[in-house]
Amino acid sequence: MGNDTIIAGKQIREWKDDYPLLQPLSETEEVFWTNPLYTGFDGTAAQVTAEDVQDASDRLQRFAPFIEKAFPETAESGGLIESKLVRIKDMQSLLAEKSGQELPGSLWLKCDSHLPISGSIKARGGIYEVLAHAEALAWKHQMLSKESDYAVLDSDAFRDLFSRYSIAVGSTGNLGLSIGVISAKLGFRVTVHMSADAKAWKKDLLRKRGVTVVEYEADYGKAVEEGRKQAEADPTCYFIDDENSKHLFLGYAVAANRLKKQLDEQQITVDREHPLFVYLPCGVGGGPGGVAYGLKLIYGENVHCLFAEPTHSPCMLIGLMTGLHDQVSVQDFGIDNKTDADGLAVGRPSRFVGKAIESLLSGIYTVDDQELYRLLRDLYDTESIRLEPSALAGMPGPVRLQQTEAGQAYLTRHHLTDKMKDATHIVWATGGSMVPPEVQEEYYAKGVQASKGK
Ligand SMILES: *Cc1c(COP(=O)(O)O)cnc(C)c1O
Repeated sequence: MGNDTIIAGKQIREWKDDYPLLQPLSETEEVFWTNPLYTGFDGTAAQVTAEDVQDASDRLQRFAPFIEKAFPETAESGGLIESKLVRIKDMQSLLAEKSGQELPGSLWLKCDSHLPISGSIKARGGIYEVLAHAEALAWKHQMLSKESDYAVLDSDAFRDLFSRYSIAVGSTGNLGLSIGVISAKLGFRVTVHMSADAKAWKKDLLRKRGVTVVEYEADYGKAVEEGRKQAEADPTCYFIDDENSKHLFLGYAVAANRLKKQLDEQQITVDREHPLFVYLPCGVGGGPGGVAYGLKLIYGENVHCLFAEPTHSPCMLIGLMTGLHDQVSVQDFGIDNKTDADGLAVGRPSRFVGKAIESLLSGIYTVDDQELYRLLRDLYDTESIRLEPSALAGMPGPVRLQQTEAGQAYLTRHHLTDKMKDATHIVWATGGSMVPPEVQEEYYAKGVQASKGK
């Protein structure tokens, strides 16, 4: 890509003059960026309110009896799809040791990697949107009301109803997995449009559940585009639009209220003297954006949310930094969007999410794939927790915050330096429990390989 190529009316060279970070980004170096538009949080940023999040939370509660019946593995949580928050002390020590960087505060892992039903953060947004759609249809056909026991949804009468409708989605894997499994369970006809990078085991698992899987040679953007086109031609088809969905966003945002409860149970205080830092892997933006938004509604300026992207797919960073959002892709800057981090191989960010978070996100950093593998190995060695590579993207966050000039400047600017000893860091582990053991072994071996000479 030549430096005189025009993007949104300006030459690449001019973009790089205006935003010098674009140079190392386009060379796929690891970078740490803090957001100049960050305002703490004034709560007026987006078209999403605290009431909307509460409404989504109530909806999930209504569905709990159905979820519990259809997926007995959720019995423990009463039909809520929720994950544990665990302290990872040994990993914290190892991170400090390897980086030569003191890491004050305490480090926790939010284990969405082990969410029931589909083993990734997509079990929040993806499943929520399908449930919202199913509820609207059932209400319309007067087969259900708010007061019903939703366990009745697990019946032939409802499966017959939903079999007259179809659902489609474009995905790099995990969203398709979540939407495919829940849609098939409810009785919908469901088609998942998979990008080239989607893993074979994810496609196999879906086909086994009766899901139609369409494969593309191209990346995620293309899979979504084709899915959208096919869905538009069929009036009974509901398309789940990962690039633009308020429903998905709300499903993710509910995680924040649930996390607050877990922090309260652990007697972890979040206030001016006890800041909370949350590190979230970002693809198109809905998952991390929804969670961050929900957390901001609760904790305001006392929570600091950072996104993590692969060095080869820094779409949200480029979209936010340039203000171009979905008008720019990583390919425009000569970046290939090729990464082993499933779910993060996204070249163009969501504008809806970008606008919703542009004043509440503290920053974004990028991580090399080899580093993801090293961290994957380290986490298994220290804590016996297995994740998929993308889910490790949050892990270097606390080190980067302390170690980079931009991170230090952020801490100084927000008077956080002397409060770090009382800080809580949460790394959001976004996927991994469904990875087949032999694939997990390969990941670990790559981690061993990547650690050589390090
Ligand atoms: C989808 C996904 C993410 C990011 O979510 P987006 O909504 O695409 O930003 C992170 N980690 C994993 C494992 C995912 O599947």
